[in-house]
Amino acid sequence: QAKQQGRQRSQLYEDQPSPISSVRAGLESSLHHALERDELYLAYQPQVQVDSRRFAGVEALMRWQHSSLGSIPPAVFIPVLEDTGLIEAFGEWAIRSACRQYQQWLQQGQVPDNSKVSVNLSPRQFRQDNLEQIVRRTLTETGLPAHNLMLEITESMLMTSVEQNAELLSRLRELGIGVAIDDFGTGYSSLAYLKNLPIDVLKIDRMFVKDIVDNADDAAIAHSIINLAHNLGLKVIAEGVEDVEVLEILSLLGCDQYQGYYFARPSNAADIPDLVARCR
Ligand code: C2E
Ligand code: MG
Ligand code: MG
Ligand code: MG
Repeated sequence: QAKQQGRQRSQLYEDQPSPISSVRAGLESSLHHALERDELYLAYQPQVQVDSRRFAGVEALMRWQHSSLGSIPPAVFIPVLEDTGLIEAFGEWAIRSACRQYQQWLQQGQVPDNSKVSVNLSPRQFRQDNLEQIVRRTLTETGLPAHNLMLEITESMLMTSVEQNAELLSRLRELGIGVAIDDFGTGYSSLAYLKNLPIDVLKIDRMFVKDIVDNADDAAIAHSIINLAHNLGLKVIAEGVEDVEVLEILSLLGCDQYQGYYFARPSNAADIPDLVARCR
């Protein structure tokens, strides 16, 4: 009897949505309206040359200000966008907003002509069959010169369909834009095929950067990534630089650029011109 009741009780629980899945369903339905309600905006984090300390560009990072819950981190809402397919529309919005904003800064002389705005692509966007068309149309519509745009993809997005990926990246680069591999070192990409990929930049993941001062293994990994990149003719950007000691080691290791809280957190667009001016 008791056993049977237990079974019935667990049955009951299984039929109810778990708290996690109802939170998720709630997020999903608010995300459907977030764009039209203007709850989404881009934050921009400066990228700076390690040696000259000159301004190199910004990474655009999506932010969601929910009407009642407040700011929701990308780590929470980007996966929901990805699973529901909403990322295609939101991602296109991000590319367009970033290009429009950067073209405005260029025209106002707020950022150098050779600097870049980087936009993250999700796996689903990368597999979208009209990605190239979207990028081309956005450049035309916003007037942003192609060499001022960089797209960031991750290693894991390149693991399958190697030839198709290389072809897509070539076509994107023929438009004149740059391509960066984000979070480099956290995936398992084959180093052998890295040499065949038409890319411009490796971004060393924060994981290998943050403890570089105390951890000799991390320093060795960062050093190897920097040498590998340079031997392949690529530039290197270190992510997550929080203090000057880390920056000094990156300089010794020959790292080209960095971004991190040490120079600036991701910031509102209005704060970027002052941050750029600080680099001159
Ligand atoms: P990511 O592309 O690797 O972006 C870098 C992340 O590191 C950002 O987190 C940034 O705020 C954080 N960061 C930068 N400097 C430091 C530092 O010195 N210390 C620490 N602890 N963190 C630092 P954020 O903005 O929370 O974004 C997380 C991830 O969400 C991004 O990682 C990216 O994968 C994704 N994401 C953000 N915006 C977009 C977007 O527009 N589209 C897509 N597909 N993904 C996006
Ligand atoms: Mg990124
Ligand atoms: Mg990154
Ligand atoms: Mg990262």
